[in-house]
Amino acid sequence: MSKKLKIPFLDLKKINQPYAELLNLEAQKVIESGWYIRGEAVDQFENEFAKFCGVSNCVGVASGLDALHLIFRAYIEMGRLKSGDEVIIPANTYIATVLAVSSVGLQPVLVDVSKETFNLDEENIIQALTPRTKAILPVHLYGQSVEMDPILHIAKQKQLLVIEDAAQAHGAFYKEKRVGALANASAFSFYPSKNLGALGDGGAVCTSDNELADLIRSLANYGSKEKYVNLYKGINSRLDEIQAAFLSIKLRDLDVQNFKRQSIAQRYLQEITHPNIFLPKLPKVFSQHVWHAFVLRSQKRDAFSLHLENLGIGTLIYYPKAPHQQVAYRSGLKYDSLSITESLADSVISIPMHPQLSELEVSRIIEGVNSFES
Ligand SMILES: *Cc1c(COP(=O)(O)O)cnc(C)c1O
Repeated sequence: MSKKLKIPFLDLKKINQPYAELLNLEAQKVIESGWYIRGEAVDQFENEFAKFCGVSNCVGVASGLDALHLIFRAYIEMGRLKSGDEVIIPANTYIATVLAVSSVGLQPVLVDVSKETFNLDEENIIQALTPRTKAILPVHLYGQSVEMDPILHIAKQKQLLVIEDAAQAHGAFYKEKRVGALANASAFSFYPSKNLGALGDGGAVCTSDNELADLIRSLANYGSKEKYVNLYKGINSRLDEIQAAFLSIKLRDLDVQNFKRQSIAQRYLQEITHPNIFLPKLPKVFSQHVWHAFVLRSQKRDAFSLHLENLGIGTLIYYPKAPHQQVAYRSGLKYDSLSITESLADSVISIPMHPQLSELEVSRIIEGVNSFES
């Protein structure tokens, strides 16, 4: 069946259309500058994004995975972490979160998530603590900020590092602070589909730790600060000028775009009334969720997805398998029961959620969900 979807799950062209003219101008400027990697546009975006998040440093890198990877690499270079140290990670996450930890020789410890938020919570962390636990890696999944205070409290008591995976939650608040400014360091992705998306790959580390930021800057640039002087065995992970210039344009509008997502979420939450389709929980505070995804649950998700497809509405399952269920991780992970995560992997299904959905499209999606016969 290759029927053309009338409301595709995601429409990146439509999402970038409002900025097309400005993006063209920026591309032109970069082309004419003759400088394409780590220059003025990157400096400018780093300053703007640091200010936006409320941290003193932002380091642009090549992807969200690299941002996470570089944070852990840097803590190892600083002697704050060493091979075999345990890092607590929510099992309900994208594989990148886990890859960043295992790729530098640290031990990923997966814990189940809260029944309410599907995010990391203190109860599951406490059960997984051992003398080797050295860091906690909360993921603000689907755009919802994790309840950070209890986690920061444990971290303080046990002297653990806390690193945020903020790849899905640009602009979300936790109390009076933005996601990305809540812990020791945070990683962002600017993959095109994220709330703040480039037109290619990109990522950033945010932190108010100047030493960490400097070190990450060199690690991402072959381990050198000064050209051809290599202090570390680094990697090449840099943000391009053209992507940084695009991101600066889109950053100006991020709060407005997130607000549109929140309005759509509010309609979905109020108007989807199907008895067997389960809605996500409304966050305690409106600004705590920027709705990167709107994730429903259904015990009959294949039939549900087909029903919507027949109405021309796209859906996506993320994620159909949790990291510990992947072949790549048939060994090397530490975990106990992950029953909530596993039941989520079997039942989640996302409906379209992006700022350029029209009121009419949202209405059609709601009608489509409510008309599922089950
Ligand atoms: C997208 C994403 C990443 C990885 O970002 P890339 O830029 O694709 O490398 C990491 N963690 C989470 C939760 C993500 O959604």
